Amino acid sequence: MFDKIVIANRGEIALRILRACRELDIKTVAVHSIADRDLKHVRLADEAVCIGPASSTESYLNIPAIISAAEVTDAEAIHPGYGFLSENADFSEKVSQSGFIFIGPKAETIRLMGDKISAKKAMQEAGIPCVPGNGDPLGDDNASNLKMAQEIGYPVIIKAAGGGGGRGMRTVHTEAALVNAITMTKAEASVAFGNDTVYMEKFLEDPRHIEFQVLADNFGTVIHLGERDCSMQRRHQKVVEEAPAPGITEEERNRMGTLCAKACVDIGYRGAGTFEFLYEKGEFYFIEMNTRVQVEHPVTEMVTGFDIVKEQLRIAANEPLSITQEQVTFTGHAIECRLNAEDPKNFMPCPGTIDQFHMPGGPGIRCETHIYNSYVVPPYYDSMIGKLIAHGDDRNSAIARMKTALSEMIIDGIKTNIPLQQDIMSDSGFVQGGRNIHYLEKKLGLI
Ligand code: ADP
Repeated sequence: MFDKIVIANRGEIALRILRACRELDIKTVAVHSIADRDLKHVRLADEAVCIGPASSTESYLNIPAIISAAEVTDAEAIHPGYGFLSENADFSEKVSQSGFIFIGPKAETIRLMGDKISAKKAMQEAGIPCVPGNGDPLGDDNASNLKMAQEIGYPVIIKAAGGGGGRGMRTVHTEAALVNAITMTKAEASVAFGNDTVYMEKFLEDPRHIEFQVLADNFGTVIHLGERDCSMQRRHQKVVEEAPAPGITEEERNRMGTLCAKACVDIGYRGAGTFEFLYEKGEFYFIEMNTRVQVEHPVTEMVTGFDIVKEQLRIAANEPLSITQEQVTFTGHAIECRLNAEDPKNFMPCPGTIDQFHMPGGPGIRCETHIYNSYVVPPYYDSMIGKLIAHGDDRNSAIARMKTALSEMIIDGIKTNIPLQQDIMSDSGFVQGGRNIHYLEKKLGLI
């Protein structure tokens, strides 16, 4: 196992990684921006290195500064967390070239799965069901694009090959709108992602978002840890996640999980990863693979009793996975509510000083957050300030525990989305389960 690693992230996930390291007796180096000196994990880490000003381009995205920090502290490996450089193949490559271990898949795998077109091709070859549409890049020939849309059937969606974070997509309902939509999406993709390649696929109108967690070691062992339902979304951003997905049978779980594990073998996958699917009328359609740990990984940990972050560290240290597929069991139900520093009505970010913080507790409650009394939420980064996870024997008891925990939680001084989460937990549609990805926006009157 490693002696010392760099945690190249901030906030709750940096703290989560630090805790896993402590359990495994690994020393930690926190790299942070000037604005993040007071982050909880920076205080708890064995060493801390300031890597730049508040702006993430100059700090958390500053590859030379992060690698230098690993050099000066004599660390062996770098954990990228999620977001920032976690899915940046160039970063992974530079980390390796500099003599360190990148805690994640090989650069070539990140590159393959980072481009939605090559990812879709690889998945089609691996026998993973994909959204109708061949996934080829769209050319400038309007007639053939119109023909393709007609064959797929409207509505279609134009997606940027390099898109991410829910950006770079445009839905087209009629033939008249197609050519313009392609031009617009290309122009936007070129500015946002430096790559104007776009492709077309069927727009699924009422899908759920269901994803499968996998883990692959360097010895050819790949396991799946079942699925999560992340259909409660706003602007393609997940708000609530849960495991297992309501209504998914054990047979479906095993079939899809096994398919995903097999696809990992086909693409030479290593580390933790997630296959994201849209699920409609009993069918799964692959949309993308995330080659990193995800925000919502705790719900899987709660139902499997398995530590995904520790396993990432073991895999990167060239140790075999600590369990086999046969040893994976699923117990009860877990729900995660993302906690954001934002106005619960208009969703405007709400940075500032936390005057008072009371953490909830009780059976089955897990709180992943870096905030504390008098902590100042900076305005420079994502507004997520933590996650509350509730586990129960079944879905209803998980919801009941989550409601109790939300009602106990006090975060004063800034606005948070706790009222929104309380509203969702009491919503009859949510309580019933199995709602689609548009449900929350419809409920909020946003669409
Ligand atoms: P990103 O990398 O930006 O997260 P994804 O491909 O994962 O992009 O898609 C994000 C979200 O966009 C999905 O969760 C879904 O809500 C919507 N979406 C993507 N593709 C389709 C599609 N073919 N039909 C309907 N909705 C889609």
